[in-house]
Amino acid sequence: MTIQLLVIVILSVVVVGAAGVTVALRRSKQLPSAEREALPPAEVPSEEEAAPAEERPEAPAGRLVRLRSRLARSNSAFGKGLLAILGRATLDQAAWDELEETLLAADVGVGPTTELVDRLRTRLQVEGSTDLTRAREILREELVALVDPSLPRSLRSEGEAGQPGVVLVVGVNGTGKTTTVGRLARVLVAEDKTVVLGAADTFRAAAADQLQTWGERVGAPVVRGPEGGDPASVGFDTVKTGLESGADVVVIDTAGRLHTKAGLMDELGKVKRVVEKQAPVTEVLLVIDATTGQNGLTQARVFGEVVDVTGLVLTKLDGTAKGGIVIAVQRELGVPVKFVGLGEGPDDLAPFDAEEFVDALLA
Ligand code: GDP
Repeated sequence: MTIQLLVIVILSVVVVGAAGVTVALRRSKQLPSAEREALPPAEVPSEEEAAPAEERPEAPAGRLVRLRSRLARSNSAFGKGLLAILGRATLDQAAWDELEETLLAADVGVGPTTELVDRLRTRLQVEGSTDLTRAREILREELVALVDPSLPRSLRSEGEAGQPGVVLVVGVNGTGKTTTVGRLARVLVAEDKTVVLGAADTFRAAAADQLQTWGERVGAPVVRGPEGGDPASVGFDTVKTGLESGADVVVIDTAGRLHTKAGLMDELGKVKRVVEKQAPVTEVLLVIDATTGQNGLTQARVFGEVVDVTGLVLTKLDGTAKGGIVIAVQRELGVPVKFVGLGEGPDDLAPFDAEEFVDALLA
């Protein structure tokens, strides 16, 4: 009896012990070997407790091609409309008027529309051709020329020796400014650059929280200040952090309260001046919501007067059939569109390319 009891006890100890070892081994397999040795099984963090893994954003090249269907979808009436008119057997005055109306309706703007219609008219008359394939080719060439492939499109993110590039992002609230700053961080990280973000839109607490989340996802530190604090001082601290940490690029979100022109000028002017005590601003990007049409152009004009805009970002191009605004806004400010937003996904910001854009319009 005693011996039997002893055997049962020994067997139980062996079975329970073996089970314990199996669980520990199974847990430890989830960790790299160095950490496996350092941590006893009980201290292995559960999946919920582990810090979220940083993401590897999509490389920027090729994004416009991936997203072109979104542009084509919302602009198909525009492209198809133009081609339908040009494919007619006779191109009479009524047809040219209709072409003009189609271009104006797509927000191409009066000046560029007149230019395009004149050039198409001349070329088609000279060639004496109404063949649709040829008409399409000519339309494509003229649209590309209007969008201007010669403009510099790359982000000026290179700083002077030992300094980070400094990108200021400006625009009216609601245009997608903060989202653009977050997406730019992803573009830069995908290019293996180190980035510091600055939440200088101190008037909207949500903007700083939003930016914090964008930054955390790609491992970019976010500098923020007290709510309602001085935006210029956040800008200053951001560049300081960038300099001290040897970051490649600093991207600063600014407040977009379009109260008065003088107020805006004071605010943005001060941010730029104060930031430049640390390092020169290499790019000022103006964000415009493509769905706001004429209103967007007015905003562009005001910002263009108060700050030296060097590049444009057109957001929400997926939500409008008015892709022509790209042409109009570039003309208005004499500054190239550098990025376009084509959806709400984190990597739906595409570097702009004139030919790919026109091909999407005419798809
Ligand atoms: P901010 O006030 O200018 O900083 O604007 P936010 O960055 O907060 O963006 C306002 C809204 O626009 C958000 O819901 C964004 O998801 C949305 N948004 C931004 N860019 C795009 C875009 O390219 N396409 C679409 N469909 N929505 C966008």
